[in-house]
Amino acid sequence: MIPYFFSRCYFSYKQHPIYPSSLTVTISINIYFTQIHPNTSPHIALVVSPLRSLMMDQVMRCQQMGIKATALLPEIAPDDAQAVKAGEMSVIFGSPESLVPGSSWLKVLKNHEHKICLLAYDEVHCLKSWGDDFRPDYLETVDIQSMFRAPTLGLTATMDMEVYEETKKVLHIDNPHIVSALPDRPNIFLDIVHKHGKQKYDVELDLQWIVDGLKEKQLEYPKTLIFTKFCTTVNDIFEFILDELGDAAFVGTKSPENRILSKYTGRIGKQHQTFNIECMKKPNSTVRALVCTIAFGMGVEIPDIKQVIHWGGSKSVLGHWQEIGRAGRDGGEARAIWYPKSTGGKDSELFGLLKGNEKLCVRKTILEHFLLPGMDNTSLQDMDTRVPCAQKCTQQCQCQLCKCCSHCANVCGCNKVD
Ligand SMILES: [Zn+2]
Ligand SMILES: [Zn+2]
Ligand SMILES: [Zn+2]
Repeated sequence: MIPYFFSRCYFSYKQHPIYPSSLTVTISINIYFTQIHPNTSPHIALVVSPLRSLMMDQVMRCQQMGIKATALLPEIAPDDAQAVKAGEMSVIFGSPESLVPGSSWLKVLKNHEHKICLLAYDEVHCLKSWGDDFRPDYLETVDIQSMFRAPTLGLTATMDMEVYEETKKVLHIDNPHIVSALPDRPNIFLDIVHKHGKQKYDVELDLQWIVDGLKEKQLEYPKTLIFTKFCTTVNDIFEFILDELGDAAFVGTKSPENRILSKYTGRIGKQHQTFNIECMKKPNSTVRALVCTIAFGMGVEIPDIKQVIHWGGSKSVLGHWQEIGRAGRDGGEARAIWYPKSTGGKDSELFGLLKGNEKLCVRKTILEHFLLPGMDNTSLQDMDTRVPCAQKCTQQCQCQLCKCCSHCANVCGCNKVD
C-alpha cells in the first residue's frame, strides 16, 4: 500500500539514468491502480500536461501497458471521446487549455467526479513560470484541485529549491510528501572550457573543432545540439560553421534539406522547426548538428544525441541542466561542453554557482543545487571518496573520475596516452 496517495501529496519523482521520464506518470498510475484498487474499476487519473508530444507518447505507453488512456486533443478519436464522456477511461491527459476551469471537457469530467482518483501535473516545474508567462491557463488549472476529492501528484525530472518553494505555493500544498532522487546523468561527461588571463571566447577559434568533425565524418558525426541564448548568436554560429563547411555542408544535391547543419529558433517558422525535429529523430538523420535556442524545447525526444554544447549560459541552473539532459537519453555515453562566455541577460545564477568553484567537481557543484528536503545525498558524499587511477590508461579511461567531468578527469592520476 502507498498511503501517501490518500492525502494530498507532492511527488517529485526522478529518475533513472536512462531517462524514462515520460514513464513516470504511467508507472505511478499503474502502481496506484494495481495496489490500491485491484478489484474496482474504472477509476480515472487526470493528468495535466503542458506538452502535446509528451501526452501522445504517454498515451501510447499507457496503452501498451493495457491501461485505457487518451488525450483531450482536438483530433481525439470519437470512440475515445465517448469513453471519456461515459467515464470509462482510466487515464486522461489534457492540456492546461482543455482543462482550465469552465472548459467543456472539465464539465464532462465533473459528471464523474466520484471516479477521479488522482490529479497529476506533469512537468510541474513549469507550472509557475509558464503560467505566469505565456500559458496563464496552466496556472489556473490548480483550481481543479478543489473540484475533485483526489490527491495531487506533481511530476518533474528537475527541480531546485526555489522552484520547489514556488510550486508548493501555487498548488497550495504545505506539507508535500516527496519522493525524489538527485537528477544525475552519469552517462554524460561534463566539460567546461575555461579561459585564463586575457584569453577570450571566440566562436571561430573555439568551435572550429565542430567544423573539422563535421567535414571529416559528415553523416557519421555524432548528433550535436549547440545551445545559445539569442537568435542573433544562433545565426552567427550557424553562418560561421556553414561558411567553413562549404560544399561539405551538404550530402547529395545542394538544397537546404540536405544540409548536415541546421538551426532552430522561435523565428524559423513552424515548417522548418518540424522538419528539423522529425529529421533528427531518425537514427540516420541528415542533420548532424543543430544550433538552437531554448525554443528547441522539452518534449522533443531524440534518444541518441551525443553532444550538447552551450555557448554562454542558460537563464538558470535548472534550464542549463535540462538542456544538458537532452544528451544521452539512450543511456549511451554523451558529452556536455560549456563555454561559459557571459552573453548578458539573466545568466548570473549559473555563473554564480561555478564562480570560486573552478577547482571542484562540476557534477557535484551542480547537483548540490538540486538537493531538496529529505533527498538522499549519499551519492554526492560518495563523490569525495573516488580514488584516482594510477594506471597507464588510454584516452578512453573508464574510471569514475575520468568519466565525470573536466575537473575530475584532470585530477585523475592516469596517463591517458593515445
Ligand atoms: Zn567531476
Ligand atoms: Zn581516471
Ligand atoms: Zn585511468
